[in-house]
Amino acid sequence: MAETSIEKTQILQKYLELDQRGRIIAEYVWIDGTGNLRSKGRTLKKKVTSIDQLPEWNFDGSSTNQAPGHDSDIYLKPVAFYPDPFRRGDNIVVLAACYNNDGTPNKFNHRHEAAKLFAAHKDEEIWFGLEQEYTLLDMYDNVYGWPKGGFPAPQGPYYCGVGAGKVYARDLIEAHYRACLYAGLELSGINAEVMPSQWEFQVGPCTGIELGDQLWMARYLLHRVAEEFGIKISFHPKPLKGDWNGAGCHTNVSTKEMRLPGGMKYIEQAIEKLSKRHAEHIKLYGSDNEMRLTGRHETASMTAFSSGVANRGSSIRIPRSVAKEGCGYFEDRRPASNIDPYLVTGIMCETVCGAIDSANMTKEFERESS
Ligand code: ADP
Ligand code: MN
Ligand code: MN
Ligand code: MN
Repeated sequence: MAETSIEKTQILQKYLELDQRGRIIAEYVWIDGTGNLRSKGRTLKKKVTSIDQLPEWNFDGSSTNQAPGHDSDIYLKPVAFYPDPFRRGDNIVVLAACYNNDGTPNKFNHRHEAAKLFAAHKDEEIWFGLEQEYTLLDMYDNVYGWPKGGFPAPQGPYYCGVGAGKVYARDLIEAHYRACLYAGLELSGINAEVMPSQWEFQVGPCTGIELGDQLWMARYLLHRVAEEFGIKISFHPKPLKGDWNGAGCHTNVSTKEMRLPGGMKYIEQAIEKLSKRHAEHIKLYGSDNEMRLTGRHETASMTAFSSGVANRGSSIRIPRSVAKEGCGYFEDRRPASNIDPYLVTGIMCETVCGAIDSANMTKEFERESS
C-alpha cells in the first residue's frame, strides 16, 4: 500500500463508522494552474440537494500556480456536485470553477467560455462521448507491471486483453468504474488498450458543458482510486517512444439533426467545416500531440486533414454503423489524452454549429499563457 493512500485498516474503519451528526463533507475539486486537479474538504450543516445551496469558497492560488503571492485569493464557484464514492452517505464531491479577485475566469478556467457557446447553441442539442485513454505508472515512473529494465512482448495481445500477462491492474480499473457509476457519471464503458498498462474509459453521451464536467470528475476519481493502489496516472499522449501506441481522447459528436433520419447530410457538412479549421482545432487538441499524431499507430498526420468511413487512420472517422443507417455521429480522432475537454468540446460546438464569434475558443486558449 502506498504512503499517499488512506489505508483501509481496522483502526481507520472504527472512525469511518462514526455518526457525522447531520453534517456532511463536501470535497471541492478544481483545475489548477498546470492543468492538474486539486481538492479540499469542508463541513456543511445539511444535505445538499441543489447547486445553489453550495457556498462559494476560496484558496491560496499562489500555492497552485494560479495567482501571485500579493493577490493570492482565487474563488471557487461550484458548478456541479456528485455523490462521494469515498466518504459515501450524504457526502459529496463538488466540481468548482476558478475565478480571480476581479471576477474574470482564472487561467485554465476554460469552462467559462465554453458554457457561453453551449448556451448560445442550446437548440442544436450537441452531444459528446469522449474516450479517455491513459497509462498506469509505478511510483518510480516506470510503466506499471512492465519488466524491470526491459519491455513486454510487442503489441498484439493487450487490446481488450484477458488473462495474466496480458492485462495489468484490472482491480484498479474495476474500482474506478464502480466509483464513477456511484457518483452518477455517464461512463459508457471501459477497455484495456493496445499498449500494456494503457486503459480507456468512455464518458457520454452528455449534452454540452456536462461532458467537460463529467470527464474532469472521472479523472479526479481515477487519481483518487489510483492513489489507494499506489499507482500513478499519466495522461501524456506518448508516454513511451518506439513501437507503442500513444494515448488519445477520441471525441464523438452529434447534433440533433445528425441523429435524425437523413442526418448524414449534416455529418458531412460538419466534416467540411472541420476541414477548414484543422490548424485551429489542432492548437487546442493537447500538448505534445505531435509525438502521437504521426500517421502510424492508428493515427492520422498532424498536418493534413482527412476523413473516412471506418478508417482509424483518418482525422475524422464515420463509424460503419452510422454510414449504414444514414444518421448518428462522427468521431474526431485527433485530440490527445491530455486535452482540456472544455476547449475541445467548445471549439467543436463553435465550428459545427456555426459561430457567434468563430475564433472564440482559440482566443480563449491563448489567454492561458498570458
Ligand atoms: P471506438 O470504437 O472508437 O473505440 P467507443 O465505444 O470507445 O468507440 O466510444 C464511442 C463513444 O461514442 C462512447 O463514449 C459513446 O457514448 C459515444 N456516442 C455514442 N453515440 C453518440 C452520439 N450519438 N453522439 C455523441 N457520442 C456518441
Ligand atoms: Mn474506444
Ligand atoms: Mn481507444
Ligand atoms: Mn475511438
